[in-house]
Amino acid sequence: MSFTLAIVGRPNVGKSTLFNRLVGRKLALVDDQPGVTRDLREGQGRLGDLRFIVIDSAGLEMAEDDSLQGRMRRLTERAVDEADVVLFVIDARVGVTAADEYFADILRRRARHVILAANKAEGRAGEAGALEAYGLGLGEPLRISAEHGEGLEDIYAVLKPLAADLTAQNAVNEPAVDVALPEDAEFDEDAPPDWLPTEDRPLQLAVIGRPNAGKSTLINNILGEDRLLTGPEAGITRDAISVRAEFMGTPMRIFDTAGMRRKGKVVDKLEKLSVADGLRAVRFAEVVVVLLDVAIPFEQQDLRIADLAETEGRAVVLAANKWDLEEDKADKLKELRSSFERLLPQLKGAPLVTVSARTGKGLDRLHNAIMQAYAVWNKRISTSRLNQWLSAMTETHPPPAPGGRRIRLRYMTQVKTRPPAFVVKATHTDKIPDSYHRYLVNGLRTDFDMPGTPIRIFFRDQG
Ligand code: GDP
Ligand code: GDP
Repeated sequence: MSFTLAIVGRPNVGKSTLFNRLVGRKLALVDDQPGVTRDLREGQGRLGDLRFIVIDSAGLEMAEDDSLQGRMRRLTERAVDEADVVLFVIDARVGVTAADEYFADILRRRARHVILAANKAEGRAGEAGALEAYGLGLGEPLRISAEHGEGLEDIYAVLKPLAADLTAQNAVNEPAVDVALPEDAEFDEDAPPDWLPTEDRPLQLAVIGRPNAGKSTLINNILGEDRLLTGPEAGITRDAISVRAEFMGTPMRIFDTAGMRRKGKVVDKLEKLSVADGLRAVRFAEVVVVLLDVAIPFEQQDLRIADLAETEGRAVVLAANKWDLEEDKADKLKELRSSFERLLPQLKGAPLVTVSARTGKGLDRLHNAIMQAYAVWNKRISTSRLNQWLSAMTETHPPPAPGGRRIRLRYMTQVKTRPPAFVVKATHTDKIPDSYHRYLVNGLRTDFDMPGTPIRIFFRDQG
């Protein structure tokens, strides 16, 4: 997904003309029957190399006079809430009107990014009006002509740097591996789990880490110790993507880090290759084991890949390898735990185990940690328990009231597993501070025993 742009402004400033230009086809709003009210329209917009969703809040002019303000406000707020960026249009020939100021006021309070466009400014027209628009306090007005296609390059120039950030953010918010749950589902939390790995649906595991951490040794140990299953992909063939194995009795498919075994020949390339390899492995996996070399734990590369696994929504286990070499085990473990907390707060509570891939010591602990992380990743919580929890949480620590308007969290339900994702219906969702978001995520972690796994909470405006 990319990002969403909403075109907002009072009637007749040229929103639809601009919408049609961005979407690139004639949707001829102007020909429409008067009196027909229209809701928000959406289209696939393009501007240079940018692709995005455009929302047009046109159709306001058809409303009855007495309800115009209210309707304008409601539609604008909806468009603004659905959008990452708002393109606010005024008519440069008319100049700033009371209605424009009304909109500007809403946007200043509610929108994340606003681009101000003074339209109908083809040629030298509308210079005065554009200057006047500075007074709206929404930054520099861009002089454009939707009808003549002028000034679009200026919109592009402002959008371009925003777009990269927004696209990345939106990608992060989108759970990568997910199982949609029926809406408002009541789960029987005591029912036997339907996600346990089977021969047909083995747990998909990847072991990632910097070169020489011991990935190949670990995988070979797992494969050797537990009898490699035969099959088309079995065996350590270099081109295989994954190998089947039973790890302590659990059917698994393990991402084969075959490239790592060739390192004798390509030592230099490997540093560079391994992040891309890691990414492939993360995409493949349900559970990612980040294998650290205890002698040099938490290198930049380890941190990057662990963070990647979290943002991709995978269950993560940290394993400190070559534990057999460690003399002062107790001190070292303390040190590892504190580095982990400091450097990877986003993975708070994820299992950290010590292993020796060479001797096989600690592989049982590793297996347990993998199963625990996998269970949390598949966790389901019933709607009724969630809502009891939500009201207790908001009572203990109510959400803030920015500008005197209290944010109300009304209803919560789990919408996905793998990793767990929740929707909270609320008012003023755009004003919910990150700190409150974290408060809820951490609360879910503690109160429902979900350490380590990425937890997503999406706030939706209550319509
Ligand atoms: P909306 O109310 O914001 O949807 O505005 P429309 O797109 O329907 O445009 C209102 C009127 O302004 C139409 O007659 C358009 O042809 C005209 N218009 C739109 N853009 C421009 C422009 O860049 N220059 C001029 N001169 N007229 C424009
Ligand atoms: P990879 O590049 O991550 O696949 O790492 P390898 O599995 O090739 O291991 C790199 C080196 O570390 C090899 O010399 C291994 O024998 C050694 N090694 C791996 N695991 C252990 C371990 O648990 N203890 C010790 N002492 N050495 C290990």
